Amino acid sequence: MSNAKIGSVAFIGLGIMGGPMAANLVKAGYTVTGFNLTQPPIDALVAAGGKGATSIADAVRDADAVITMVPADPHVEQVMYGPDGVLENVRPGTLVIDMSSIKPSTSIGVAARGGELGLRVLDAPVSGGEAGAIEAVLSIMVGGAEEDFASALPLFEALGKTIVRVGPYGAGQTVKAANQLIVAGNIQLVAEALLFLERAGVDTEAGLEVLGGGLAGSTVMARKGDSMRARQFKPGFRIDLHHKDMGIVSEAARELGLVLPFGALATSLVAALRAQGDGDLDHSGLLLGLERLNGLADSPRSAGGNA
Ligand code: NAD
Repeated sequence: MSNAKIGSVAFIGLGIMGGPMAANLVKAGYTVTGFNLTQPPIDALVAAGGKGATSIADAVRDADAVITMVPADPHVEQVMYGPDGVLENVRPGTLVIDMSSIKPSTSIGVAARGGELGLRVLDAPVSGGEAGAIEAVLSIMVGGAEEDFASALPLFEALGKTIVRVGPYGAGQTVKAANQLIVAGNIQLVAEALLFLERAGVDTEAGLEVLGGGLAGSTVMARKGDSMRARQFKPGFRIDLHHKDMGIVSEAARELGLVLPFGALATSLVAALRAQGDGDLDHSGLLLGLERLNGLADSPRSAGGNA
């Protein structure tokens, strides 16, 4: 069945990212069976035209492809391994695609075990945030065998716009780690520019508009500038998850014998915000941490608006 067209997809982890991604696969015509730790996202998938499962085994049993989108390494290991996990319950030849952001070494381990069981495993972390997931314009960085990438491409095309195989197993995660390094640094500098403009009494809407058209412009600025100006830090992408990702970058750089000075600073600033109890805020909440560093009282946090 390895070259057969994919018709049915099991989707494990229907959170901020997985929920809209699974719904986009339904829209693209796939039969999607979802499983999540909590029930409401399963109900939402069913309302969107998908099917609900009562366990991982139940979800994956008849699937041509399985996609997992869970928070971090321990969750991926829990979902993949063991008698109730994905690897033991799928049919031989099934494509198993983990789209979570985790350590490259964990992805390599999943691919090795999957290979022993005759499965075709890809790591395919994404960038683009909740809005990118909803709009099906994610960037998808894929590690794994070329022929498996080719089989999975129609699925990826229903989820994203920029889809690149970057190398063998684990390479997708390495590229994602680089992505998170750039995003954290970029958010911090957008926050610093914003506070700087505010303190100088400049109209920040006009300021960010013109900055966005020049070399300083970035997707971070375009997607998060307005919500940062409004101090709306509803996730989006949680500081807790970015803290996890900065740990992945730091560990990988250390293993490579590399020093990443600005990355180290960004890692600390993310960790500080988390230590202050704000791990559940969007990562644009780095602006809040910057305000504290400047002795400014906490801005009122909005519960709405930012994606
Ligand atoms: P989330 O916390 O919103 O969703 C994770 C979902 O996984 C939850 O619904 C949870 O119930 C489910 N889950 C956890 N363990 C499970 C298990 N054992 N079985 C079934 N379901 C399980 O997280 P998210 O924001 O959707 O992020 C998911 C992954 O995508 C993370 O690795 C994150 O780093 C990455 N990511 C997130 C964003 C973003 O903007 N949110 C962007 C790019 C990448």
